[in-house]
Amino acid sequence: MNPLNLVFFTVGVLLGITLILIRKREKAIDEKTVNYLKTIRELNILNELSASLHTALDKESIFEQIVQKSKELLKAEKAAILLIDKYKRVTDFYTSLGPTGNCKCTVKGTIKKVIEDMSIIRTRDIKKHPDFSSFPTPHPDIKSAILVPLLLRGEPIGVICVTDKIGAEEFSSEDEDMLLNLAFHSALAIEKVQLHEEVLKIAATDGLTGLYNHRTFQEKLKEELERARRFKHSVALVMFDIDHFKEFNDTYGHLKGDEMLQRVACIMTDNIRTIDFAARYGGEEFALILPEESYEGALVVAERIRKKVQEHRLEINGQSASVTISGGIAVYPDDALSREELIEKADKALYLSKRTGRNRISTFHE
Ligand code: GH3
Ligand code: MG
Ligand code: MG
Repeated sequence: MNPLNLVFFTVGVLLGITLILIRKREKAIDEKTVNYLKTIRELNILNELSASLHTALDKESIFEQIVQKSKELLKAEKAAILLIDKYKRVTDFYTSLGPTGNCKCTVKGTIKKVIEDMSIIRTRDIKKHPDFSSFPTPHPDIKSAILVPLLLRGEPIGVICVTDKIGAEEFSSEDEDMLLNLAFHSALAIEKVQLHEEVLKIAATDGLTGLYNHRTFQEKLKEELERARRFKHSVALVMFDIDHFKEFNDTYGHLKGDEMLQRVACIMTDNIRTIDFAARYGGEEFALILPEESYEGALVVAERIRKKVQEHRLEINGQSASVTISGGIAVYPDDALSREELIEKADKALYLSKRTGRNRISTFHE
């Protein structure tokens, strides 16, 4: 080869190599940029989630954030969150298609496995998974899925489930890592909202009987009277007082008295509708707010409770102990227009029952 050609050839080869190296480097930079942007996108979604989880104080909005951000982060069609209690019963089930209500069923199949093994399930087709069983409520057709446990201090409190990867057959191991990260943030937020709910419940209820306390009773009666005024319907108030309860305490002791108070409270809650409201008004006094109830209806409820209490037996050292209750009914707007007046009238009716022999129900009309 003539020397000039050799020079051209060498320069050509060198140029070719340089071009290939430049292209390779460009490609590497492109990949780096894509990964970088991907990480930024993921961090942004997690940051947004964290911020909203820290401010939200109600379960519904936290669930909504978690399912929406899980979908966004993993580019999935659907997501769901399921919480359990200490008996592994489902307490909440919320999907990106909306709340599904509560169902106290125990967990089974795939969800049970995730919870019990505290492991992740990632599958192309959930229905082909060996542990597959239907979710707590009927669910739409799903295929690819990832299920990760929600852990709080090493204990499972639920599961996040993301299904149907958009644009791919299945979720990747990166998706799995991202969902685990999201589950970590979510578990902390859920704990916060559960503690908040617990505090609200403690503030609103009576520690011994679990019924609403006096303060909540006053608030609820105010609300119900306002509603009744607006919609022009009635509200019945029933006041109960246990008869000769001092004697019961003197005979069986204060602790057994406490137990009897709990039993009476249970009888009350077991015998009212879900829209009714039972409270411990004071020591051995109880109150029922029965919205949209007439005299006749309230009398039926109060009589049923009176009879159930009378029939109830508490076994104490081989003895069969029981109590009776007296009750008084007043109705808005027939007997009173204000809250104070309604309470006063129901109380008057209650003391009529006391004066006329106890273990009976009186109405203010009497
Ligand atoms: P009456 O039929 O007139 O209502 O008689 P009574 O003995 O029920 O009424 P009184 O007001 O004299 O006594 C109420 C009793 O209720 C006295 C009190 O020790 C008891 N009591 C109030 N709160 C509690 C409680 O939380 N636990 C227990 N064990 N007893 C309570
Ligand atoms: Mg009393
Ligand atoms: Mg009493």
